[in-house]
Amino acid sequence: MSGSHYLIMKNLFIVANWKSNKTGAETNHWFQEISNLNVQVSNKQIIVCPSFAGLEIAHGLIKEKQLPIKLGAQDISAFDEGSHTGEVNGKQIVEFGSYVIIGHSERRQSLGESQELLDKKVGMANKYKLSIIYCVQDENMPIPAGVSVIAYEPISAIGTDNPDSPENANEVARKIKQNFSNVKYILYGGSVNGENVSSFTSQSDIDGVLVGGKSLNPQDFAAIISNA
Ligand code: PEP
Repeated sequence: MSGSHYLIMKNLFIVANWKSNKTGAETNHWFQEISNLNVQVSNKQIIVCPSFAGLEIAHGLIKEKQLPIKLGAQDISAFDEGSHTGEVNGKQIVEFGSYVIIGHSERRQSLGESQELLDKKVGMANKYKLSIIYCVQDENMPIPAGVSVIAYEPISAIGTDNPDSPENANEVARKIKQNFSNVKYILYGGSVNGENVSSFTSQSDIDGVLVGGKSLNPQDFAAIISNA
């Protein structure tokens, strides 16, 4: 071997969870701004998860501006297409997005999503070949078979400006990978911002971040991408 040094950069997932935010006009503005910022994505897979109402418009804007961004939904119906009022099914999501978040703590808590329901949602996502980002709050929660990307999001860290320590997050990630052989990637989520992101992404078992609040402003999100 020659004396040169090779820096092996791991691939990172940087995921925006917009939750129940942004109108069509605001979505338009966000994509215009992020496009103007010309962020270098290099080894990073950028995934934006708008609400269902914003998926189609976001899809059109990514295409128009040729942005290196993939789209995801924040949830998926446990049912296939048919008589399920108010539900958005996998066939509808896959028209615009390639990812889906399943099991976010806000849905588990405020909508009472059960493990049985989450297992059905995972089944539907797999049926429509959507890549799943499955959220757990600690290393002891069940993870359905067929899930390879996990977001570890401790409840005390979500939207609180009180993130987990990078060392503890890494330890939880390591245990999850050890206990579930199907899990390949672990993202950390909870009060991530442009200043603290690299303390998480530099950990050996953390493969990216899931970002709520700080993904809403394009400048904040661009800083997270650049600093990750
Ligand atoms: C989230 O809800 O997935 C999240 C990580 O939120 P925040 O970044 O606002 O803590």
